[in-house]
Amino acid sequence: MVTNLLNYDAKSLADFCVEIGEKPFRSKQLLRWIHQFGISEFSGMSDLAKGLREKLATLAIIEPPQIISDHVAMDGTRKWLLSVGAGNGIETVFIPEANRGTLCVSSQVGCALACTFCSTGKQGFNRNLTVAEIIGQLWLANRALRDNPRVAANDSDRVVSNVVMMGMGEPLANFENVVTALDLMLDDHAYGLSRRRVTVSTSGLVPAMDRLRERCPVALAVSLHAPNDDLRDQLVPINKKYPIKELLAACLRYLSVAPRDFITFEYVMLDGINDSVVHARELVKLVQDIPCKFNLIPFNSFPGSGLKRSSPEAIAVFREQLMQAGYVVTIRKTRGDDIAAACGQLAGQVKDKTRRSTCVRAEILS
Ligand code: SF4
Repeated sequence: MVTNLLNYDAKSLADFCVEIGEKPFRSKQLLRWIHQFGISEFSGMSDLAKGLREKLATLAIIEPPQIISDHVAMDGTRKWLLSVGAGNGIETVFIPEANRGTLCVSSQVGCALACTFCSTGKQGFNRNLTVAEIIGQLWLANRALRDNPRVAANDSDRVVSNVVMMGMGEPLANFENVVTALDLMLDDHAYGLSRRRVTVSTSGLVPAMDRLRERCPVALAVSLHAPNDDLRDQLVPINKKYPIKELLAACLRYLSVAPRDFITFEYVMLDGINDSVVHARELVKLVQDIPCKFNLIPFNSFPGSGLKRSSPEAIAVFREQLMQAGYVVTIRKTRGDDIAAACGQLAGQVKDKTRRSTCVRAEILS
């Protein structure tokens, strides 16, 4: 069986080189060809001996997910639907801005955590993505966003400057594969992104937040969405297992090594649910000990959600309450609305393994 080298970080690639009778340092050359230059054919790896290129062609492949569709919105936001086999599809979104290009990457096919406002959560859960399927999203985006493969690895030609693990799935529920993909994003021989420019967003899997702190402390965003446990239990069911007090304690521990000196709290604005002045004041009190910023996310509707976006006035008043308390608050711009690429709208194609989904959910929540 051939090996997909997109599954390997630097260490596993070095091990692979030794296994096939090559020097481990070949892994650095391979990493550069695969990830920096976006090459998928070994024949194009010109600084490898011909014999090695031929050997690799019989033993290995470089295979990202297949592109099913590729849409560009009026505002330049670009969304790919990618096949990951067995009728399952995941989505990846590129958001261009004046001074950066952010890629929103998926980590699972669907999600078992079933947050009530989330389109992905409503689709059920099928499986975790492999490392190749996670890093393959960045590999494909870099290729698609450039006319030609990179010829040099420097900041000026970097199209994807930031990665956010905020696509389909809960990244920390697929811990090992996500961390291996993060290692590749940070590796100077691969993508060379700084820790500050790679963000993991979690709904609050507390033990995994601690593991991430030890293994690979990138920037952290936490989907908070409610100022108290009663409401958060309803919106983010994982809260029943890891309530707000434990979550905030984990945030404080994370800050001791985080590349940024604040946590970003995400807060989806739901009309009549979590968007009153009382909620805002409660929120201010709740996070008073945590260095943090807020990102308010106007809810993006999807069929069957039964929820409505807060009015612009309600969002403005909510924001003002937080700002008066001294917090930096951004309101997430709705991007890619016309191609359903906005936050919370990613749906992909999920063959829900309902029994397994129920089972995984029960396991996580127990
Ligand atoms: S918000 Fe995140 S954790 Fe919650 S269901 Fe959606 S993808 Fe899963």
